[in-house]
Amino acid sequence: AKASAQNVKLTPMMRQYLDAKEGLTDDTILLFRLGDFYEIFFEDAERGSEIMGITLTRRNTIPMAGFPYHALDNYLPRILEHGLKVAIAEQMEDPATTKGIVKRAVTRVITAGTVTEDNVLRSSKANFLAAIHVGKKNTGLAFLDLSTGDFRIIEHNDPHSLEAELHRANPSELIVAEDLNIHDLPFALPDATSISPIASWQFDSDLAQQNLLKHFAVKTLEGFGCRNQTSSITAAGALLDYVLTNLKRSADHITSLSLIQNNDCMIIDRVSQRTLELVDPIFRDSKNSTLISVLDECSTPMGSRLLRDWLLRPLTNIEKISQRQDTISSFCSDQMLLEELRESFRTVRDIERILTRLNLGTANPRELQTITWALKAIPDIESIIAYVDSDLLTDIKSRLYSFPELTELLLNALSEELPATLKDGGIISDGYNEQLDHFRKGSREGKAWLARFEAQEKERTGIKKLKIGYNRVFGYFIELSKINSAQAPESYIRKQTLANAERYITPELKEIEDSVLGAEEKAKALEYELFQELRLMVTEKTKAIQITAKALAELDCLANLSYVALKHSYTRPALCTEKKIDISDGRHPVVEAAIDAGTFVPNDTQMDDHQASINLVTGPNMAGKSTYIRQVALLTIMAQMGSFIPCSQAEIGITDSIYTRIGAADDLSRGQSTFMVEMVETANILNNAGSRSLVILDEIGRGTSTYDGLSLAWAIAEHLHETGCLTLFATHYHELTKLGASLPKVKNWCVAVHENKGKIIFLHKIQAGAADRSYGIYVAKLAGIPKSVIKRADSILNDLEDLTGNTYIKNIKKSLKSNSNSLSDNSPDLFDWQSN
Ligand code: ADP
Repeated sequence: AKASAQNVKLTPMMRQYLDAKEGLTDDTILLFRLGDFYEIFFEDAERGSEIMGITLTRRNTIPMAGFPYHALDNYLPRILEHGLKVAIAEQMEDPATTKGIVKRAVTRVITAGTVTEDNVLRSSKANFLAAIHVGKKNTGLAFLDLSTGDFRIIEHNDPHSLEAELHRANPSELIVAEDLNIHDLPFALPDATSISPIASWQFDSDLAQQNLLKHFAVKTLEGFGCRNQTSSITAAGALLDYVLTNLKRSADHITSLSLIQNNDCMIIDRVSQRTLELVDPIFRDSKNSTLISVLDECSTPMGSRLLRDWLLRPLTNIEKISQRQDTISSFCSDQMLLEELRESFRTVRDIERILTRLNLGTANPRELQTITWALKAIPDIESIIAYVDSDLLTDIKSRLYSFPELTELLLNALSEELPATLKDGGIISDGYNEQLDHFRKGSREGKAWLARFEAQEKERTGIKKLKIGYNRVFGYFIELSKINSAQAPESYIRKQTLANAERYITPELKEIEDSVLGAEEKAKALEYELFQELRLMVTEKTKAIQITAKALAELDCLANLSYVALKHSYTRPALCTEKKIDISDGRHPVVEAAIDAGTFVPNDTQMDDHQASINLVTGPNMAGKSTYIRQVALLTIMAQMGSFIPCSQAEIGITDSIYTRIGAADDLSRGQSTFMVEMVETANILNNAGSRSLVILDEIGRGTSTYDGLSLAWAIAEHLHETGCLTLFATHYHELTKLGASLPKVKNWCVAVHENKGKIIFLHKIQAGAADRSYGIYVAKLAGIPKSVIKRADSILNDLEDLTGNTYIKNIKKSLKSNSNSLSDNSPDLFDWQSN
């Protein structure tokens, strides 16, 4: 801004603006409060007006734009969405009582990761700010959801698990030291995360630790379970400093720091989180394609946020899974109770985030009322779940605090209909505070006096149209129309002349005015004070309310999973320690919900360590292979998060990680060829999958020539056979079905197709055995490829099939030999597709 400001002569106010701008980063737009407006100037005005869609004007050649102060909530999201930050400079003095120019100062800087305004946040997703610190031994990550106070750290020397964690949290902003090149990090960052570099010295480990000790007012962080977490503590300390600097006030709702525990949860790596569409759709506009869209019918935003966490972090501990299942069983067996519970959640709302705004002083009276209603609902909720016998519920109950006295007090104190603003009164009910009642009485009596006065003056002057009015400049006045003004008594003092009326005052009127207005002003000021008192009574209990909110979220999740289980007829799966997945009549929860009820064809799954660890699924395109293999992954995840699953019965052996390689059309946007992406992702699987992993591969080798692809697919299957993981491998290379001849644990499955007079019906039914044809030409016909092309393709296919086959098979064998040394020359004839 300085550069273009040099050419213009600066007014004192412009100098004040540039001073405020000093010290802000280039990606920060400064909103400068002028009276009832926020104004932006210079380059900020140029880029800001475009982003916000507001008019760019000029004053003395200075570009400027602005909007009314109360519209901030509308414009804030637009600026943040563009990866920019917002600094707000407020007037620090009352213009009415200040001589000369009003003092202004930046009171807050809002960034994507530090925003707490409700309309910018997504209610069903935590809004994480993250920081990364690359230490000598480990790399540390810290995550803070400022809107709820949720503060966590993790460190590791394995980039793979940090990457999964980063993508699970999917932070909106990531803080890094300015000398760190993010392209050197050994993992990919989430696409939507904006990067905020800060001075490297802020990642000094002693300084960072001091920041944390000071904030939590403790001597050691060991109470939070942190012992040797140097890297992540450093990240956390730098992060906290960043937040407090931007907030320019304390954040007492950040009450603890926790370690992310990953040893008892299933690893779902970055790629699988995305391609299985667990919480985010691959294509932005297909919101209903995610698993969470089917599973989340939570009653509260806290429940929705926790459910997301449960889904991305399925459990591996059978006892913990069973506890969730037991509770869901109990709820499902008593639908009345479940209804009642969900009903009682209706008044709970987002108390976590409201509590934060109460702490930060940005909550309005309605939000205090919302907290009050939530507190009021807690005893009801407790008494409902008292009827259910479950260990988990007993535990949850022990974490539900209710605050009967505080609730009672708040209910008495707050009016029923509350304003959205703090300074205009109407917050506190009558009878709560004597002084306030007294002021209100004064103002009421004054108003009654005015009514009497009006009647009396009408009588006295004989002017029927005489009326008492009020405006901000003159206060109360008597108004007479032009025609009647000649009849005005002498005691009336003329104050203002309008086009067709005259306005007067009298000493009597002014006297009463002082007491009416005085009382009103005093009442408003007192209400504001009383509100602050009530606010503090609530924020004093921040920690206990946060714990309660977490417990409510858990309860909401369990009630939700029960509700969803009943709604979609899900069944409780059995869990075991053996390596197996046995599902009868399994359904894909998302596809099932998207198509006509009852039309989804259920399928069985039988995978085990003896005869079916590598499961090849062949069948024509569009037959349902992808749907089927994803379904198995989704049901395994659901089962381990404690949910019931769509099937008639199931036994799931605990899986410690899920890896998937499924083509997604947005791969190209990453600047790599489709085939390269496919191979990178496959390499990742081969290097990381273990014997208790579930591996899902869709059409490996599709991106290259047939021989290459087939050879790679073959060798990959052999490698996974060796690893011993349970694998589902959908392929259109039906030649692969011959793998079973040399590998004992390979099992062939195919999708049933009904062929009748050249017409093909996809039955979507998985059955044992190998498919013999790929029906590619038939699908092409369905897709509308011109008849002549179809006919020609058909005849080429016939010709190819009529060839002796020798050259074809020789070529494949030759390429296989150079790719996989496990095939010998006298392997059985693997590729006798001529026989079909
Ligand atoms: P493939 O991977 O074999 O090409 P898809 O799994 O993509 O086939 O399935 C093609 C279409 O068939 C999907 O759009 C889906 O709606 C439908 N479909 C798949 N499986 C089933 C099923 N079990 N029951 C009903 N419809 C199914």
